[in-house]
Amino acid sequence: MRILVVEDELPICEDIAQALRHAGYVVDCLHDGEEADFRGFSEDYDAVVLDLGLPKLDGLSVLRNWRREGRNFPVLILTARGSWQDKVAGMDAGADDYLAKPFEMEELLARIRALIRRSLGHADSMISCGRLQVDTKAARVLLDARPLELSPLEYRLLNYLVHRCGEVVSRTELMEHIYDGEAERSINALDVLVARLRRKLGAEVLHTRRGQGYFIEPLNEGA
Ligand code: CA
Repeated sequence: MRILVVEDELPICEDIAQALRHAGYVVDCLHDGEEADFRGFSEDYDAVVLDLGLPKLDGLSVLRNWRREGRNFPVLILTARGSWQDKVAGMDAGADDYLAKPFEMEELLARIRALIRRSLGHADSMISCGRLQVDTKAARVLLDARPLELSPLEYRLLNYLVHRCGEVVSRTELMEHIYDGEAERSINALDVLVARLRRKLGAEVLHTRRGQGYFIEPLNEGA
């Protein structure tokens, strides 16, 4: 899951990014509205944390631009404490949720989890697909109810595929959503990662659709 954080106060942006990374997300931090506006069109984010008071272009304008052009990723806005006008304007502009500053990091994490879940049609913080279950609160994956030992990258890959249960996800899309930075992004590295995961999961959990991508099969109740 790839998350964009837009916040012009650098220490706050870094704090949020660090907490999100620790929770298993890939994070991009931006500090002004113009850059954010651009990146919202060029990258496919799973969620966005958007401060409203930003240099160059304010957060509300950024959000309106995105929504007008059909960018529909979930957006959590950060507002000044007690400013109900900000909240109302933000929700009207297309925000999915808001958080007033200062906030508890745990609350931000819980809201992001909920936003991503809901945007993909899941109601619960435990998300199941076939024999796999992701505990999004604890950032861990269970196979047949037993927790797996996973690297952060392995967790990100399985988490993404379980959220998209039954859908074939292309390698390009997977790379965009699980890799931090550019260096390690390659089809080759992804295939090695998948092969390693298959050894942990057994052969019949993580499937390849040749020429299209990877998927996890939902449980066939009749079988
Ligand atoms: Ca600000």
